[in-house]
Amino acid sequence: MNQLIYMDNAATTRMSEKAFEKMKPYFLENYGNPSSVYQFASRGKAAVDEARETIAGLLGASANEIYFTAGGSESDNWAIKGVADSLKAKGKHIITSSIEHHAVLHTCEFLEKQGYEVTYLPVDENGKVSAEELLKAIRPDTILISIMFANNEIGTIQDIEVFGRIAKEHGILFHTDAVQAFGHVPIHVDEMHIDLLSASGHKFNGPKGVGFLYVRKGVRLTNLIHGGSQERAKRAGTTNVTGIVGMGEAAGEAGALMTERAEKIRTLRDHLMERVLAEIPYVKLNGSKTDRLPNNANFSFRFIEGESLLILLDQNGICASSGSACTSGSLDPSHVLLAIGLPHEIAHGSLRLTLSEENTMEEVDFVVDTLKKIVERLRNMSPLDEDFVKEQKKEK
Ligand SMILES: *Cc1c(COP(=O)(O)O)cnc(C)c1O
Repeated sequence: MNQLIYMDNAATTRMSEKAFEKMKPYFLENYGNPSSVYQFASRGKAAVDEARETIAGLLGASANEIYFTAGGSESDNWAIKGVADSLKAKGKHIITSSIEHHAVLHTCEFLEKQGYEVTYLPVDENGKVSAEELLKAIRPDTILISIMFANNEIGTIQDIEVFGRIAKEHGILFHTDAVQAFGHVPIHVDEMHIDLLSASGHKFNGPKGVGFLYVRKGVRLTNLIHGGSQERAKRAGTTNVTGIVGMGEAAGEAGALMTERAEKIRTLRDHLMERVLAEIPYVKLNGSKTDRLPNNANFSFRFIEGESLLILLDQNGICASSGSACTSGSLDPSHVLLAIGLPHEIAHGSLRLTLSEENTMEEVDFVVDTLKKIVERLRNMSPLDEDFVKEQKKEK
């Protein structure tokens, strides 16, 4: 097999061809600035309005609660810094979890330097935040709870509706980083009591560099980019018409196909998981078995360096990740794997495979067969493995 096998859809996805086609005329024909007054410009404006409607519809929100941004990181930064600033007279305490994306964690660390206090809730071995821990952390000066919908490394889905209700009962704003969840699992901002929600186009087959922030009507959020009057003057800058059109189309498609796509991907992923756990010794599945994104598989292989695994998989045309793409190049094990209680050496031997509906059963089988060979080869080279085998023999 010489073709490319892409199993890194948590890092980014291939663009939907329909979305790509829909973008094209807004580069070459309808290229007017939607803020201009002539009729020519209104074509772009109409397309942006349509995208806003589509996205709002998928969340059970209204179009005027959707603000377009340049992606998930920007949406997370804006939600947290925007609430922190607008409510600083009320309090300076924020609650989040220890397994958030760095776009949330590093924003919180930045705010700590500005005099805010942040509680980082622990998670259990499956990566779940508990409602009791959340309740214990709430203080009179808590202004924001930010807990991710689904984790980008281990795929664990949180009890968002429960946390949203707790936040609401305590009069605290609730933000969720739904970058891995939007377009993949059902979300309803009213039923789940979500006040702010981040998402990113390129995680659901839209283009890169475009995302949105849902902000519930009535929530006061300090403006992010000062300048023109785009996005109700809260996020200035000439509208990214092509990006928004592509993201809107991809969102519509993701919504319409959600159930059947998830079914197909889950079948592939479950087969992958079953085979890896049954056929490779000393392997552990990371993340929840039940509350899990349909496309995510994350394993730890003992006595193995995740980085070596990735290089050898790459030589076989397989794209995977050893944690989150953002941490590649760093030697620290993933903060998520440490938070679920993995010791450093086990966390180092981790592999994330995130599938899409474009993968096939043949690809899954090829990946497992290849993985088996690679793991065996690396273990034969590992001094840790030798020691372990000796220990085992002694015990017998
Ligand atoms: C990818 C990702 C982000 C960042 O989104 P960008 O659009 O790449 O900035 C934030 N949070 C989570 C959970 C992600 O998976």
